[in-house]
Amino acid sequence: MVSGNLAKMHVSFGDEIQYRLSLSEDLDMNSLIGKEIHLEWTGVINCTKCKKKTKSSFGQGFCYSCFIAAPEAAECILRPELCRAHLGEGRDPEWEQKHHNTPHIVYLAASSAVKVGITRQNQIPTRWIDQGASEAIILAEVPNRYEAGKIEVALKEFFTDKTHWQKMLKNEIDKSIDLEDEKWSLEEKLPSDILNYFSENDVIWKLNYPVDQFPKKVKSLSFDKTPIIVGTLVGIKGQYLIFDNDCVLNIRKHTGYFVNIH
Ligand SMILES: [Zn+2]
Ligand SMILES: [Zn+2]
Repeated sequence: MVSGNLAKMHVSFGDEIQYRLSLSEDLDMNSLIGKEIHLEWTGVINCTKCKKKTKSSFGQGFCYSCFIAAPEAAECILRPELCRAHLGEGRDPEWEQKHHNTPHIVYLAASSAVKVGITRQNQIPTRWIDQGASEAIILAEVPNRYEAGKIEVALKEFFTDKTHWQKMLKNEIDKSIDLEDEKWSLEEKLPSDILNYFSENDVIWKLNYPVDQFPKKVKSLSFDKTPIIVGTLVGIKGQYLIFDNDCVLNIRKHTGYFVNIH
């Protein structure tokens, strides 16, 4: 049996994406596909930041006091256009310098639709894999999170910034999407201060997930309602485990939940 507090699965890019879950042991999740697994939530949640027990989890794994104070849960995480790192400010200016006043990229990702998003440069291609994108292309390279956020806001006029997670899990992909075309069609639509940041890198990343069987309908499980989850793992996509009965479990949503797996 393996135990520990859940955290986002580690991913590595390759012909097929590899997933690892770090608990008391490092679990090679790909090797569990096709096997029956038991996941049991013990009823305990530890805050991902201060490690203290918390009755409920706020914003993906924080206790309430960390949720309102930690830089990892600041407003500029979800709304990068509000980031103040480039001004030397923020909830924790030192943390902001290290994580947000650093090169970021704006990207386009394809699944059921074209989505715009931003991430730190060193999170490529992890960020795309976490979102379950089928393909992705770098659009712009900028010096900090604030600039990335400004471009993302301008691009929301043309593309969604949300992943339609049920379609993503059912593998409903729009195969007609051409990301290079989508990227360069923006040349006529955007002001020059944004175009100056455009990247010449037109590599299209193709992401292949280890999935034997996609769900027909998506039934999302949560440990709060179903503390014991038993099923045959048939695939992994994004940060979701997919089971043979159309049920899926979002691992990231349960960050900090203390579980036993066997
Ligand atoms: Zn905490
Ligand atoms: Zn920030």
